[in-house]
Amino acid sequence: MSLVQRLARPEILALPPTDVAAAQKGAPIGSSIKLDANENPFAPLVGGSLAASINRYPEPQPAALRQRLADLYGVGPETLWVTRGSDDAIDLLVRAFCRPGIDKVAVVEPTFSAYAQFARIQGAEVIAARLTEEFAFDADAVFAAVQPERPKLLFLCTPNNPTGTPVDPNDARRIAAALPDTLVVVDEAYGEFAEEPSLAGEAAGNLVVLRTLSKAYGLAGARVGCAIADPEIIELIARVSPPYPLPSLSIAAALDALSPERMPLHAERVARLVAYREVLADTLRSVAEVRSVRTGGNFLFLEVDDPTGLAQRLAAAGIRLRFRPNAAPGGVRVTVGTDAENAAMLAVFGVASGDKPSRRVELVRDTKETRIAVAIDLDRSEPRRISTGIGFYDHMLDQVAAHGGFALTLACAGDLAIDPHHSVEDVALALGAALKQALRDKRGIGRFGFALPMDETRAEVLVDLSGRPFCKFEGTFETEAVGGLPTQMVPHIFRSLADAMGAAIHVRVDGDNDHHKVEGCFKAFGRALRMGLALGGDASALPSTKGML
Ligand code: PMP
Repeated sequence: MSLVQRLARPEILALPPTDVAAAQKGAPIGSSIKLDANENPFAPLVGGSLAASINRYPEPQPAALRQRLADLYGVGPETLWVTRGSDDAIDLLVRAFCRPGIDKVAVVEPTFSAYAQFARIQGAEVIAARLTEEFAFDADAVFAAVQPERPKLLFLCTPNNPTGTPVDPNDARRIAAALPDTLVVVDEAYGEFAEEPSLAGEAAGNLVVLRTLSKAYGLAGARVGCAIADPEIIELIARVSPPYPLPSLSIAAALDALSPERMPLHAERVARLVAYREVLADTLRSVAEVRSVRTGGNFLFLEVDDPTGLAQRLAAAGIRLRFRPNAAPGGVRVTVGTDAENAAMLAVFGVASGDKPSRRVELVRDTKETRIAVAIDLDRSEPRRISTGIGFYDHMLDQVAAHGGFALTLACAGDLAIDPHHSVEDVALALGAALKQALRDKRGIGRFGFALPMDETRAEVLVDLSGRPFCKFEGTFETEAVGGLPTQMVPHIFRSLADAMGAAIHVRVDGDNDHHKVEGCFKAFGRALRMGLALGGDASALPSTKGML
């Protein structure tokens, strides 16, 4: 008898299997006349492009998203079931395996309350092991508490909500091996923010992994997650899934957000949130009313002296934190927010963050020809990660950011099969627009900048962040292209930048080698920008007698 045959509820095993491929059989949905599902033939009366075709039911199990998630987590699609958030995956597992009044679910308290909640709704008894006093995960203690109860499911949350505690993958493996008649469900909802490697690739036998797009990918409102497990378990939870669990809008949003040119920005955001998290933790450790600070995922777990008083001050400031008195008497979970949100939160703890307003912006620019995502931080020099599809252009933009002294994450998926033109131009426009936004009201900046030489080449770029677009390019190139970048596009790039930034950019270049000449222009532009963007002595001063820029 297989594991599933031993553990599953007999009444679920008796259900007919779900035919996952049913929707893909016959003509593709888009091209068939659909008179089979009692849908309304008219387009829905809602605006926006995502509304297209929501008069039709979605695929019961969206094949493209299933494949994309499988690729994302490095597993085969047959081992993954797309769910309505990972909440739904918890519920499906509990319903597929636990008979009311008979079976048990084990959790390691304090932890995410949904495990016990879904278990109780199903009528399953909840067995609670505990983290140590210090909120550490003690595998032997968990095993000792759980093993005699023979639960159907054991939920391990790593990093744990709300304490941030990681579970060492070796401990999870060991526990799964020692409990062969329990499904060990490792919830990696916050896995992207953790250092421990994912167990997704090892989800087989009685080891199940849950993932979600709600946290790292910013899609909490779309409700997309998944369970990764042995195909036999997947086949079983498919039987307890509702017919069309995932809204088409969510499927479309998830596929869009997970497209390759969005991935560098996701990575940059995660790194950024982790860095913020540690800065916040250090800051809060020096606050007297905060007795302890732990971190994990995209949150902090504090123990405070006076949770009631804190709650009042937070309410007055319009800030919501999650109080977790069951975890610890003064337990509070704090999600890492934006710079401004974090500063407002710190202010409630009496910490004035002397930080200047953030000069970080994100921008997404999509057309039929190009899809571009950019993140810029004028006050950090890392990371620099650029992929336009044109290697030499990447190198040139890297020069701009490196010499400009700012962090730049930029990815473009463009119609390069036609010509580099659209990608080159649109990237310049997106970069220019991002720079303009990041400058905000321009108070405190240098405004002007200039720079010069490179070997035999002389490249001179003058920049005025004036708000008035103007571009003057003096120089010619002998060759048609350098490294896949048409030289004809070089003046065009600077014009696009000037237009999008609202800046005057004057470029003059002469020399013998076109590679040097092109590179000289970008380097000099970076240097000129560095001076123009740099914050000077008086943060409130506008470098203009007009009073506006
Ligand atoms: N697991 C953990 C540990 C969580 O904290 C949460 C939500 N806060 C979830 C799962 C569920 O997330 P979602 O349903 O949005 O995927």
